Amino acid sequence: SYRKGGYHAVRIGDQFSGGRYIAQRKLGWGQFSTVWLAYDTSASNYVALKIQKSAAQFAQAALHEIEVLSAVADGDPSNSMCVIRLIDHFKHIGPNGQHLCMVLEFLGDSLLRLIKYNRYKGIPMNKVREICRCALVGLDYLHRELGIIHADLKPENILLFSTIDPTKDPVRSGLTPILERPEGNPNGGATMNIIEKKLKRRARRAVAKISERRASMGGEAQKSERKLDGIDVRCKVVDFGNACWADKKFAEEIQTRQYRAPEVILQAGYSFSVDMWSLACTAFELATGDMMFTPKAGQGFSEDEDHLALMMELLGKMPRKVAIGGARSKDYFDRHGDLKRIRRLKFWPLDKLLVDKYNFSENDAREFAEFLSPLLDFSPEKRPTAQQSLQHPWLNPRNTTQNEIRNESNPGKVNVGMSNLQIKVGK
Ligand code: ADP
Ligand code: MG
Repeated sequence: SYRKGGYHAVRIGDQFSGGRYIAQRKLGWGQFSTVWLAYDTSASNYVALKIQKSAAQFAQAALHEIEVLSAVADGDPSNSMCVIRLIDHFKHIGPNGQHLCMVLEFLGDSLLRLIKYNRYKGIPMNKVREICRCALVGLDYLHRELGIIHADLKPENILLFSTIDPTKDPVRSGLTPILERPEGNPNGGATMNIIEKKLKRRARRAVAKISERRASMGGEAQKSERKLDGIDVRCKVVDFGNACWADKKFAEEIQTRQYRAPEVILQAGYSFSVDMWSLACTAFELATGDMMFTPKAGQGFSEDEDHLALMMELLGKMPRKVAIGGARSKDYFDRHGDLKRIRRLKFWPLDKLLVDKYNFSENDAREFAEFLSPLLDFSPEKRPTAQQSLQHPWLNPRNTTQNEIRNESNPGKVNVGMSNLQIKVGK
């Protein structure tokens, strides 16, 4: 893909936007872009530099994302709404064409990485709560203040403030920024090796230091708690490539399959509440390590039909009015509102599933299911809004209310320790 219209090849030390940003290392990539850790020489801190492929359709998508991200930033001057912050954007001309670039605040690992790190066993409920609270603050802001539907909420698109591995964090590992490509090496190959070796050496040293500190703290309790110990689970919603304004939609099919709401499958029209469905799927996955729905096509039925069947097995039968209400309903349901090609459903209600399969206590299962079930209402308009969900007792156990900061200029909006949400970058 590193050809005309495709990705822009980046070398460590490369400069962008007239030398303001300097590439440090690759952070990740998507279908449309590569994302680099870069040093912002005017702000003296690290940023994430997203460099879009150059072909027209990618540029178009980037322009849309920049438009949404600009609205998101403009509406949140204090950067406290649990959504990724766009810092800057510009064009960069390279051998493969003209690339739109977005400069974003540098965040850490995605929740998907966190789930994997915990070996798909699920993360402790208090952390699931904190993450849900952050995501809901973000969604409430997007929905109520901006009229934006995210349309692709999932663990991959919620990033932690920090990396799980401290050596991957340029600030915590004490990295000094690379400010230029060493001279006398125009093609950069060897240079990169030297720099990468240096980085690895530094990282190893940092790891050694951290394990030393852990060992000195000692104790068996430390060991069993180690898995998520010290991981701050504050997070932000990212990836606005698929977001849209509720009154200006362009796609019928939105959301990643496993997090897709039933009204999207049935093409019955959608609104903000699709994000609430995805949030419930995400919360379940965090708590159990398993995706809530993993539909597959089978003998005589499609992936969509399996998906609808799985939803009903977990949540009960879809009301007839909802089942037959979409443009695609006739493909899946008969006029009684029963699936045409999957006749026998094996019901396994959410609270029972949490106890039987995931060893939740009866109490935890009931409370968690009471939070999730309304978000998974088949009737989109009956799902609670993000604002309403933030008031749910599951998110507000009596002993944690003191951690909330009520924003006085905006009564009714609950912020979660927002004053601490800025990333702190050493100079
Ligand atoms: P695409 O739209 O091409 O899928 P994403 O915005 O999802 O690109 O970014 C691709 C990857 O880059 C992400 O999965 C993540 O690993 C990394 N990434 C993106 N934004 C940031 C950020 N602000 N901070 C740290 N890493 C990021
Ligand atoms: Mg992505």
